[in-house]
Amino acid sequence: MLPFKLVYHDLYDLNLGAHVFPSEKFRLIQDKLLNDGIAEVDDFLRPEPATDADILRVHTEDWVHKLKTGTLTASDQMKLEVPYSSELVRAFWLAAGGTILAAESALQDGFGCNIGGGFHHAYPGHGEGFCAIHDVAVAIRTLQARKKIARAMVVDTDVHHGNGTAAIFAKDASVFTLSIHQLNNYPAHKPHSSLDLNLEDGVADEEYLATLLPAVKKSVSDFHPDILFYVGGADPYREDQLGGLDLSIEGLQKRDAGVFKEARHKNIPVVTTLAGGYAQRLADTIQIHVNTIQAAKHIANL
Ligand SMILES: [Zn+2]
Repeated sequence: MLPFKLVYHDLYDLNLGAHVFPSEKFRLIQDKLLNDGIAEVDDFLRPEPATDADILRVHTEDWVHKLKTGTLTASDQMKLEVPYSSELVRAFWLAAGGTILAAESALQDGFGCNIGGGFHHAYPGHGEGFCAIHDVAVAIRTLQARKKIARAMVVDTDVHHGNGTAAIFAKDASVFTLSIHQLNNYPAHKPHSSLDLNLEDGVADEEYLATLLPAVKKSVSDFHPDILFYVGGADPYREDQLGGLDLSIEGLQKRDAGVFKEARHKNIPVVTTLAGGYAQRLADTIQIHVNTIQAAKHIANL
């Protein structure tokens, strides 16, 4: 048994068919965790969808209405970049419920891992870049409303800037947002995070880790969050189709373990979410995400 819970639902699949976003990855990660003996069936929790009241702590009534009734405009649809379906909407509500459950579970066990979520490009009133609902923001606001936490930190290591996160919490002093990303990549407009670590094209393991880990250490110790949300994109990988950094699979696992160690050192619970991953070989994306869970297991057992 793992010393923490994994949160997963079969309906996380975004129902995209042939698309650069491999929406079957959630199921494949679950399968690999079980097949490789990293986790057992009893390590998994099955989330309920977030309630509309929880979603509305972050998103506008107009956007929620459009999603629930399938009335996205052509421009909404273009920014979202994934085809609308009722399955897609259900999956986003479930991912948000999953990140809430993983966060509650992290407060209890020190770690809580959603095998989904990390939809960091979603804004309050529209979706962008495959993200319709910002699960991490919904979970932060929900835990604050439940008086479980006061201050949260988001460490976003997806290769793409966490624009939705930055915009949502821009004026909220209770949430510290850190994004490490390739500067010359999507999204074109990058609102300021509390701390943006802008990387040039082609940055590899050593420079990446030397930039990220001291910044996490300092931010954690200056800000003192009650919980840390980790948006663990697989797309800084050197063979990613939508990324332009040069990290190895080993470097990515050092990244995960390094962030978890800094949080653990200060007794801060960690919630992990997946975010992007578009490697040429799907098996690499799956391995990188599985390694995040392995890193959590390793740090939790230290
Ligand atoms: Zn990404």
